[in-house]
Formats: sequence, C-alpha cells, structure tokens
Amino acid sequence: MGSTSFGIPEHRFGSNGEKMPVLGFGTAVFPPVGAEATKMAILQSIKLGYRHFDTAAKYGSEQPLGEAIQEALSIGLIQSRDELFITTKLWCGDAHGDLVVPALKRSLQNLKLEYLDLFLIHWPVSCKPGTYEFPIKEESFLPMDFNSVWAAMEECQRLNLTKSIGVSNFSCKKLTDILAIANIPPAVNQVEMNPMWQQKKLREFCRANGIFLTAYSPLGANRTFWGGDRVLECEVLKEIAKAKGKTAAQVSLRWIYEQGVGVIVKSFNGERMKQNLGIFDWSLDEDELKKIDQLPQSRGVTGVAYTSKYGPFRTVEDIWDGE
Ligand code: NAP
Repeated sequence: MGSTSFGIPEHRFGSNGEKMPVLGFGTAVFPPVGAEATKMAILQSIKLGYRHFDTAAKYGSEQPLGEAIQEALSIGLIQSRDELFITTKLWCGDAHGDLVVPALKRSLQNLKLEYLDLFLIHWPVSCKPGTYEFPIKEESFLPMDFNSVWAAMEECQRLNLTKSIGVSNFSCKKLTDILAIANIPPAVNQVEMNPMWQQKKLREFCRANGIFLTAYSPLGANRTFWGGDRVLECEVLKEIAKAKGKTAAQVSLRWIYEQGVGVIVKSFNGERMKQNLGIFDWSLDEDELKKIDQLPQSRGVTGVAYTSKYGPFRTVEDIWDGE
C-alpha cells in the first residue's frame, strides 16, 4: 500500500489501479452551516493533509468543495487537481437511465472539475424523474431499473467523466443483482460502518467480490438527525481510548481502518480534523479487538426515509433485504 505525502495510506482498486486515500473527508453537514463555512473547513482540511473528499448532489456541498479546490490550487496548497480523490453521488430523482450522464455533468459543473474519481448511486431506489425534495414524498418512490441505470453509470466511466463507479447503501443481495448485469463491476460500496454496526456479512461479500467497502458515519454521526452519540459514548471504546491515550473517536476510526476498509469522517473543527488524522502510527491489540468484536450490534442509519407504503421498499427490512 502506498500513501499520500501526508502519510495517509492509499488503497488501489479498479481495473485502472486508482489510488484512494483510505481516510476521506465528509461534507454532509447537520445542522447546515452555509457555503462559505463549508469551503473554509475544506480548505483547512487540505492544509492538514486530507486529499479525499466525499460529497453528493444532495448535500449542497459540491459548489463549496469546487471553490475550495480552486482556491487550494491558486494559493499553492496543491499543485494539481490530480492530487485529490473526489467522490460524488447520483440522487434518486436522477436515477433513471437517461438522466445519469446529465446529472454527473451538472455535478462536475458545480465542482468545477473535468472528471470525478468516483461516482456512486446514493441509494438503491429511484424517485420521480427530476425531483429533488427531501424527505422524498411517499408517492414519489419508484423501483430502480438497475439495467438502464447501471449501463448509464458505465457510460459515465467510458466517457472519462469519472475514473470509477460504485454504489452506496447496497445489501449483498442488491450487489449480487448489479454484478449479474455489470460489464464494469462496482468498485466501491459506501455504507454505514462503525464498532456498533460492524457489517461483517457485507464486508466478507465485498472482499470476495473485489468491491472496496467504505464506511460512512464512522463515529455514529453524533449531533446529526441521522445519528447519535452511541459510538462516542460507548464505554468499551472509552476504556480502550483511556488506556491508549487516544480518544473514543480515534479508537473507532483505527478499528475501521484495521478491518481493511475505507473511512469517510466529517469534522469542521480544526482540532478534531487533526485528531481524526492521527490513527496511522499505533494499533489496537488482540484483546481490544476482541472487546470491540463483542459489542452489541444495530444499525444507526435505518433508511426509514427511503420506505413508503406504496413501495418499492415498504419496510426497512426491504431496503437491506433482511441482512
Ligand atoms: P461521522 O463522521 O461519524 O460524525 C460526524 C459528527 O461527529 C459531527 O457532528 C462532528 O462534529 C463529530 N466529530 C467528528 N470528529 C470528532 C471527534 N474526533 N470527536 C468528537 N466528535 C467528532 O458522521 P457522518 O457525517 O454521517 O459521516 C461522514 C461522511 O460520510 C458524511 O459527511 C458524508 O460525506 C458521508 N455519508 C454518506 C452517507 C451515504 O448515504 N452514502 C450517509 C451519511 C454520511 P464536528 O464537525 O463539530 O467535529
């Protein structure tokens, strides 16, 4: 494994040997902070050494990320856009065969970029073409036509609008469906993963199929509407942290890294940004790993906002196929 000039290990994946820094910077913010604060936080993170950025058409952070990249180039924090790894995601309203390429072009315009490193299907469900409201209206949901949407994702890669393509919030079952029709298999599946939701089955499936699993909400998304404090306030993690002179956040991030997956963490606070980078020069011992392994498991992000009494997902179990 190589590493960035700031010592973040890089994972090589895909047929083109793309290099993804295994620790990425998240830009989904709650409560919202505004474009200027987002841009300033991203610039600060580039100064500190973050090189991998995660955004989505839905987050409203594509434009501030694009502006931060322009400024980082103009003040010489980076010499070239190629030093960065940029991911964005296709929203449900654009998850229709004929809307995928235009949606990616719009994202590139927001980001002021010529290409993406990774383009993900955000959730495995569509909603009425060209609708962007959230929460999505119950009557707006539609089953995703995997055939046409994945073919259009592949077209994005063939057109060199993105170096790689992948998915997010996909179960083993749904990955199997995509793999059955794919000419280009998904390079990445980005899902919730942390010590309280360890994703053992999905991790195994992804490893066996050459899909790089990337963890979102690695700290449990504390203080957001989709998360809480159960990771940062976990007694077992706090005890391990105390014994090692680290924080519970660092123990969680280190544990994820040691499982051989990627991790996207969000902090707009300079001290915590630095803290989250400090996970590569120490390790967890066997006893600590065993304690974490035994933590009770449950999802934080249930996906209930993607269910509807009209389908295609009537229950949370439908989204995750009971996995
Ligand atoms: P997270 O990274 O687990 O947690 C973020 C929260 O933790 C923020 O409130 C942050 O506050 C706080 N925090 C960060 N570092 C900390 C530390 N060292 N100590 C204590 N608190 C700390 O949650 P997330 O934002 O849900 O996940 C990360 C990224 O993954 C997102 O930003 C987004 O890019 C992506 N994501 C993707 C999906 C998807 O569906 N694909 C879903 C959710 C998230 P401060 O900013 O004040 O530090």
